[in-house]
Amino acid sequence: MVARIIPVDPFDLVIFGGTGDLARRKILPGLYRRLADGQMPPEARLIGAARSGGGDSEFRESVRKALEEFMPADALDQKVLEQFLEMISYVQIDAKGDKGWAKLRSKMREDVVNVFYFSVAPSLFEPIAERLKQHGVADDEARIVVEKPFGQDLETARALNASLALHFDETQIYRIDHYLGKETVQNLMAVRFGNMLFEPLWNSQYIDHIQITVAETVGVSGRGEYYDRIGAMRDMVQNHILQLLCLIAMEPPSRYSPDAVRDEKLKVIRALDPVEPDDIVRGQYGEGPGGPSYLDDVGDPRSRTESFIAMRLEVSNWRWAGTPFYLRTGKRLKARTSEIAIVFKDAPHSIFDVPRGRHSNVLSIRLQPNEGMQLGVTIKEPGPGGMRLIDVPLDMSFAEALGERASEIPDAYERLIMDVVRGNQTLFMRGDEVEAAWAWTDPVIAGWEARGHIPSPYDQGSSGPDDALMLLHRDGRRWREIRS
Ligand code: NAP
Repeated sequence: MVARIIPVDPFDLVIFGGTGDLARRKILPGLYRRLADGQMPPEARLIGAARSGGGDSEFRESVRKALEEFMPADALDQKVLEQFLEMISYVQIDAKGDKGWAKLRSKMREDVVNVFYFSVAPSLFEPIAERLKQHGVADDEARIVVEKPFGQDLETARALNASLALHFDETQIYRIDHYLGKETVQNLMAVRFGNMLFEPLWNSQYIDHIQITVAETVGVSGRGEYYDRIGAMRDMVQNHILQLLCLIAMEPPSRYSPDAVRDEKLKVIRALDPVEPDDIVRGQYGEGPGGPSYLDDVGDPRSRTESFIAMRLEVSNWRWAGTPFYLRTGKRLKARTSEIAIVFKDAPHSIFDVPRGRHSNVLSIRLQPNEGMQLGVTIKEPGPGGMRLIDVPLDMSFAEALGERASEIPDAYERLIMDVVRGNQTLFMRGDEVEAAWAWTDPVIAGWEARGHIPSPYDQGSSGPDDALMLLHRDGRRWREIRS
């Protein structure tokens, strides 16, 4: 199968925070791959902006080092690399100062798309937005890309939306959630809305429950101070996991267009029930083979921030009434994996002599590692010996389906940046969506804070606290195994 690559128009992309971790690990390697694949035209210009001194050649050298460090050696072609570096320049700018903006303005071309990527701390979003307009660098056609976290609660998210709205129209603002750029996530929409097979079954009548797991093996050391102010609920559930839940639960949009899709996602968030205290499990990892305990990692023995959260929630509408969604995410768990599992109900009556609950169809959507989908179906175990049933997977791993081209599936960041250049906001969060997500999240957090809830300890390399297992056991269900 040959993937079709449609080149985008020439553009100028300014990366504020061009010397930072995200730019070096994700944005710049992603752009290199888009050039190597022929999607990014050689006429595009990339401009790094940050406070550090140094000119174009120093920045180019740092980009070369970043690509060598964060890309496999065989993915780098010297000729393409030189061409890529030629496209790059640098402007020294302090987001809070007024120097450098005139130079930046002189670099921007009027006849191409202008994109400004805010790959900096959220406290700099507003100063940059303001100065881009004040100094005439960005016009009404320009696009800005805003990184997460988008606020820490409803109040700060509203304030941020309001301050960006002073300078940019909503159609110019691209709030990035890189989970939405993953191939599988878009495939979830293709599978749901491009086939007749699933949609008639996609409701509480046929689906028993849904599990979303985002498990990490790493701890929080190195970013402990930051993480301890945030916790798993704000870091993962409010954005990435809720976005995944929306794509599963939303009604079919009338068309695949930014507002049609985002309107439907917004309705899901607004239909989320408040979560009961008994339906939430929070945990902190203890000391173990991976390193110190959470409390040691954050340097606060009294911290009550969760490095693990599991919850049961419901979407209150006709389609989903009575169907639980179980979400869990955590650090230092037994494997690094992100999976959505749609667990279908048992057949209403079994003509075979097997206990109920033994065989149910599961559509598993893996986001990482090995992006792909798998549908578990029940068949007869081959061979003599009567009618014995086994579950086998109908596997659609992208690596197998696409053969050699699978290695060319764009990473989420590069796909999303190309969407920005094309002016397609479908996979970006709209301001009202983000606010609705916080409006649901805030009372949940306020609830456990008011109760003085203390997270339960869990072992490193486990599936989280035992209470999380009980969350499903008491409903007669069990979590899927966390495995990579
Ligand atoms: P980082 O490594 O700390 O980089 C910050 C960048 O901002 C540096 O290039 C820094 O360069 C620049 N900067 C700092 N103060 C500045 C100022 N006053 N004016 C202009 N530039 C300034 O941070 P990061 O990890 O790349 O993260 C950037 C953003 O992406 C954050 O919002 C983060 O939450 C988000 N994010 C990051 C990741 C990730 O994997 N790293 C993932 C998701 C989201 P100078 O010091 O030279 O100015």
